[in-house]
Amino acid sequence: MARAINKGRLKAIILDWAGTTMDYGCYAPAVVFVEVFERKGVPITMAEAREPMGAHKRVHIAAISKIPAVAERWRKVHGRDCTEKDIDAMFADFIPLQLACLADYADLVPGCLEAVAAFRERGLKIGSTTGYLLDMMDLLQAEAKKRGYEPDSTVCAAQVPAGRPEPWMCLENAKNLRVFPLASIVKVGDTLPDIHEGLNAGMWSIGLAKTGNEMGLNLEQIEQLTPEDLERRLARAYERMRAAGAHYVVDSIADVPPVLDEIDARLARGEGP
Ligand SMILES: [Mg+2]
Repeated sequence: MARAINKGRLKAIILDWAGTTMDYGCYAPAVVFVEVFERKGVPITMAEAREPMGAHKRVHIAAISKIPAVAERWRKVHGRDCTEKDIDAMFADFIPLQLACLADYADLVPGCLEAVAAFRERGLKIGSTTGYLLDMMDLLQAEAKKRGYEPDSTVCAAQVPAGRPEPWMCLENAKNLRVFPLASIVKVGDTLPDIHEGLNAGMWSIGLAKTGNEMGLNLEQIEQLTPEDLERRLARAYERMRAAGAHYVVDSIADVPPVLDEIDARLARGEGP
């Protein structure tokens, strides 16, 4: 069978939302996960709230409830395990709370617009994937547009059979953009499920170590770190993302354009992801 011919260049880039293009530190979902567990009398830490980040938000709540320390705290308070019904109730709480504060975290990551302009300049189509729900994305897309960012395609986890780490959101973007082969597409995101999503889709996968969930700090907090602390935390994020299989790891979306030159060179040599 003939192999799909790739003319040796990337044709599309798929970008995550929170922690990648906007919401430096990926705060909006994290603070709401803390709040919904608090409302059930079970306090969780920001680190626990962030652990499953990238997944569909109901899947994320279920994953937090299964963290051993959280499950133990839940049993102490409720005298039983956290059930599917509890998860449904927390997810029902989550939706309005998240909608109410999303716009507060909609500022673009520094360098985002310049990077997107560079992607367009290279002729790339721009897709996007997210663990947010449809009405959350309606709101966020309007906020992003006000700030000058408008991808060509956006796919939410609820629009496909399953969210990350499964590849369907990426594949749906490829279809929407009518871009193939999949090796001519690169996926960019700030969480380990983002990296797996790209790899599972047969695409190139780039991890962003500094601006998203792995650091879990906004710009102001990062500026307050000592150089040693910053370096230690960043090194850990790079290591985790590389171990997850990312083809490349960089600090932020602003650092992505030069990586695309490297990928183009590899494609031109006949390499694939
Ligand atoms: Mg993200």
